[in-house]
Amino acid sequence: MVKVIIDQDECMRCGFCTSICTKVFELDEKGETAQITPNYQHKNSSTGEIPKKFDCVEIVERKCPRDAVKIKD
Ligand code: SF4
Repeated sequence: MVKVIIDQDECMRCGFCTSICTKVFELDEKGETAQITPNYQHKNSSTGEIPKKFDCVEIVERKCPRDAVKIKD
């Protein structure tokens, strides 16, 4: 398992992560920030634990325009 952390203060709601990696990322109910989908949330909506198999999370970490997504092994 790896941790995924979204810096919600940096997120500008561009929708990139939520469009290419729908299993892991979604917008919150107000549409104000990206969050981890409930299935993978760990402790809070900005932190998740996912299987390594989600390559799309690595793409999001590299290409989020605000550099707001980090993966920690
Ligand atoms: S790609 Fe980055 S800036 Fe865009 S919605 Fe996701 S976390 Fe926010």
